[in-house]
Amino acid sequence: MTRRVDWVVFDVGGTLVDETRMWRVWAQRIGISEIRFLAELEAVLAARLHHREVFARLAPGLDVAAAERAAPFRITHEDFFDDALPALDTLVAAGFQVAVAANQPEVTEAILVARGLPLAFALSSERAGVAKPDPAFFAEVGKACGVPSERIAYVGDRIDNDVLPANTAGMLSVFTPRGPWGRLHATWPQAAQAALTVEKLTDLPEALQARV
Ligand SMILES: [Mg+2]
Repeated sequence: MTRRVDWVVFDVGGTLVDETRMWRVWAQRIGISEIRFLAELEAVLAARLHHREVFARLAPGLDVAAAERAAPFRITHEDFFDDALPALDTLVAAGFQVAVAANQPEVTEAILVARGLPLAFALSSERAGVAKPDPAFFAEVGKACGVPSERIAYVGDRIDNDVLPANTAGMLSVFTPRGPWGRLHATWPQAAQAALTVEKLTDLPEALQARV
């Protein structure tokens, strides 16, 4: 089937942004090694539990929300995957509109815009008032793009939160199998339901154009 995709909307964590530094900061806050933290995170995700379970296991009694409020983690330039910014630029040069829509605090929108990324819009779950995988979130994405959903590609590192709901919404799902979720979800049978799987975001322009 051929289809015309002219919008490419990205998840943030694990897709454009490598969250390794964030997990390192949390390990330091809790006072354990990064290796132990990441091992527990992988165990929690493999058990299909919410990642917050990591804190319950490693730091019972820790008020995660209060700790985050006291010292908020903010994405910086160093956190982007090496291929993220080149991929955005190449997509824009190829005539695609690019945007970000993710389960993030509202402040992430301003951080991404301040970075000068060539984004048509940035939508956080906090501002939307609804989060992935809720279909209402993907409806908001469609509204923000202003085109029928079949003209939108949604790119993410999770099968459950990104690929499957994007398919349900009628978008072209693109899976990036990297980061703790992506590596795990690549082993799920449902990974085959991604319309496209790209190892590197810089492969995306060509992969999308091959479908047009
Ligand atoms: Mg993600």
